[in-house]
Amino acid sequence: MIDLKPCPFCGGRAERIDLDEDETDPNYGGSFIYCPDCLASSKLIFGEKVGLEEAWNNRKAAPSTEPEAIREALQKISLIRAYETKWMRIR
Ligand SMILES: [Zn+2]
Repeated sequence: MIDLKPCPFCGGRAERIDLDEDETDPNYGGSFIYCPDCLASSKLIFGEKVGLEEAWNNRKAAPSTEPEAIREALQKISLIRAYETKWMRIR
């Protein structure tokens, strides 16, 4: 069995869920990986479930929305604007 990497969004401990108890569940027989802390999940896979752990382990985190990342992005934008303004004056 392949070890699961921590959640790419919050660092929480990932868990594999096998939907094998309720046969009336339309997703019966499927499996997925999810993070109980932030509820991020992999796709639901049926059959041989090839690539289930890899789907989770290779998942990329969304771009950061941390204040530091936002501040850096705004600084870049203001630098570009300053450069454009200067360039327009030279013309
Ligand atoms: Zn998480």
